[in-house]
Amino acid sequence: MHSSLIGKIDKAKRYAQEPDRVRFSRLEVTFKGEHDDYVVSYTDGTWHCSCAFFAGWNVCSHTMALHRMLTPMIPREAAPGGLAAAAAVGGA
Ligand SMILES: [Zn+2]
Repeated sequence: MHSSLIGKIDKAKRYAQEPDRVRFSRLEVTFKGEHDDYVVSYTDGTWHCSCAFFAGWNVCSHTMALHRMLTPMIPREAAPGGLAAAAAVGGA
């Protein structure tokens, strides 16, 4: 294999262990809930989920779970429902 590509692969392996290098600005996923699939999105610090709970509370288990999965690639201060909600589930 080309030596410069080997160097890039080694660097990629190191980077993959350093998630704080990555900062999401937007994303959209399908979240498989217990009863249905939901579309969860994050755009410039704002979360959205297609579930009924989110419509009433601006936070839900899907957005909170995704935020926990993606920490530190999404900043703490961008916790869905604010830092109080994040602290309540042990994420802050
Ligand atoms: Zn939801």
